[in-house]
Amino acid sequence: TSFFANTTEAPPIEVFHMNKLYLDSTDPNKVNLTIGAYRTEEGKPWVLPVVREAERRLANDETLNHEYFPVLGFDPFTKAATELVLGVDSVALKEGRAIGVQCLSGTGSLRAGAEFLANVAGLKTVYVSDPTWGNHNLVFKNAGFQSLNKYRYWDTANRQINFEGLVEDLENAPERAVILLHGCAHNPTGMDPTKEQWHKIAEIVKRRNLFTFFDIAYQGFASGDPDADAYAIRYFVDQGLEMLVAQSFAKNFGLYNERVGNLALVVSDSKTLPAIRSQLSLIIRGNWSNPPAHGARIVHLVLTDPELRKQWFDAIRVMSSRIREMRAALRGNLEKLGTPGKWDHITQQIGMFSYTGLNPQQVDNLVKQHKVFLLKDGRISISGLNTKNVEYVAKAIDETVR
Ligand code: PMP
Repeated sequence: TSFFANTTEAPPIEVFHMNKLYLDSTDPNKVNLTIGAYRTEEGKPWVLPVVREAERRLANDETLNHEYFPVLGFDPFTKAATELVLGVDSVALKEGRAIGVQCLSGTGSLRAGAEFLANVAGLKTVYVSDPTWGNHNLVFKNAGFQSLNKYRYWDTANRQINFEGLVEDLENAPERAVILLHGCAHNPTGMDPTKEQWHKIAEIVKRRNLFTFFDIAYQGFASGDPDADAYAIRYFVDQGLEMLVAQSFAKNFGLYNERVGNLALVVSDSKTLPAIRSQLSLIIRGNWSNPPAHGARIVHLVLTDPELRKQWFDAIRVMSSRIREMRAALRGNLEKLGTPGKWDHITQQIGMFSYTGLNPQQVDNLVKQHKVFLLKDGRISISGLNTKNVEYVAKAIDETVR
């Protein structure tokens, strides 16, 4: 008999499953609001013009080759990435208390960081927001975390952050628990804490001796301004907190399949860094040995060439503005139809997603009757909307909730 005869089928990964149902549908009106990837007005993936330009330059650079990168990656890239998130003037950078390590996109950065916390620092308790990105639990569990917990984040009835619940849960978390925070553009709710709320969270983290792990997969996507989107992280650094930051360049550079990521670490004592680097080297060696080069070279080139960097800022504004326009269009159409309920949250939310508040039966109806594909928690990826389909989607929602 096969060695694999007892292998049971694992549950499907919802987002890819729904995406496949969309692809398999033959309905000409079908709409894909599942996957968190930017789409143009024409519904197409977008290679940022600045990325094309960087690729042309790299292709013509005869000095480049396909040798291995070091285990911790391409140093000039990690430096540029760390500066992007912390800010060039960051006190932690000035004091030599911050480093970056190249990882496989946001997910690999989370995984390497989580393994380091669990197996080197001995932190095995984590709190993630309820709800959160579906992969957080799996990554932390597989990395060796023994206690996986949730802190309250969402007030379903009022479609806003349940800040009292969040505060209470962080106050009750045990000392040295790892608190996973979304740096900006919270996935799936699209709602971030206000500045005052961030200050309160930092105060609790500090007083209760908790450890912060920021996940920032949408820097620039939330407001159109990468500096504004890094507010929370920079505030925590200013408060003297140590932290890990998992940075993804999938969304803000449109480099989804290149797996460009940076794990930034801010520590209180620069003397701890050589040992930390050596431990991370072993973690990465045992996982993927060394990271891929192409995407990291692109991001490095764009971030360090003033002209290209400007073009990148422009591209981010193009993406974030189109998303904002589509939020307004969806809300406008729903209000025009007089669709029961309040829809102002669609324009209050930011980033790639809207947490619509549609319940599982309504989602099921949208998928089955209207071929509008979304996740069963009611999350829609706004960039799947365009001027040609937004009215159709609004009508489908209208019919569904009546
Ligand atoms: N964190 C969050 C909250 C995300 O939404 C994503 C992308 N869906 C990621 C991390 C990481 O994605 P990637 O590994 O593609 O960079």
